[in-house]
Amino acid sequence: MRGALAIRALILGGTTEAVQLAEACAALPELEITTSLAGRTRAPNAPPGAVRIGGFGGAGGLERYLRQQAIDRLVDATHPFAVRIGRNAEQACRAAGVPRLRLLRPPWQRRPGDRWTEVDSLAEAARLLPSSARVFLSVGRSDLEAFAGGGQWFLVRTVDPAERCLANAHWLAERGPFRVEDELALLRAHAIDVVVSKASGGEATYAKLAAARQLGLPVIMVRRPPPPPGPVVDSVAAALAWLAHRPADPALAGRST
Ligand code: NAP
Repeated sequence: MRGALAIRALILGGTTEAVQLAEACAALPELEITTSLAGRTRAPNAPPGAVRIGGFGGAGGLERYLRQQAIDRLVDATHPFAVRIGRNAEQACRAAGVPRLRLLRPPWQRRPGDRWTEVDSLAEAARLLPSSARVFLSVGRSDLEAFAGGGQWFLVRTVDPAERCLANAHWLAERGPFRVEDELALLRAHAIDVVVSKASGGEATYAKLAAARQLGLPVIMVRRPPPPPGPVVDSVAAALAWLAHRPADPALAGRST
């Protein structure tokens, strides 16, 4: 049982790190955690503790939720490319006076042998692809539209089946983690000559980049959008320490009851 003095925290999830943070919090009786999921994935990895699913209705809806649920702290542990919810969280926490922390996994680092071209958007990635290319596209379902109509052939991998895939494509619905040897086999089997990836970071989907390096394949890497202003940590341990800290620290004591 959690005590009446428990710290009520909201984790904005949809990532491995959010699940890991909820798991770590479950061991601390002073924390009462709810994880929020957008509801995009059919069978999301279930974190321990309370889970709520679905959008809040913009920044205003999230602000109302924070007040109604008397949330003391919020960790935005969403994906590095989840721009809208991050902005909403920043606005809502500012309005409700709830301390907020961004948990952002470290980006991948370029290694010797990598042939990455960095671009700012999926549209720019699509423009760089020769029309004859055989492309491995491991992005989200909602990202596919940028690649329609270019004439390339695509191997598309998404977590859940896409309602509409690209016309000229072979499509796989698979969830990581992926192994380098399997990614090598996949790239070879489909005679892929270029990989397109978002700079998501994380171990679960890094193997495609190691495989591309081994095969000498070019990778078009879409840069991360900048996070909203405010404190950022890159590890679950640091986010846990922030959540569990009893506020002598005025930055955490911002919310009045
Ligand atoms: P987004 O564009 O930033 O958010 C779109 C809307 O979805 C938000 O305005 C919000 O709706 C709702 N939403 C997003 N995350 C939510 C959460 N954790 N809890 C409740 N509502 C949420 O996000 P997205 O890029 O579509 O990603 C959706 C989810 O998938 C995120 O939770 C993210 O962590 C996860 N994800 C995203 C990617 C990616 O590449 N973008 C990859 C892997 C996982 P309201 O405005 O109605 O509140």
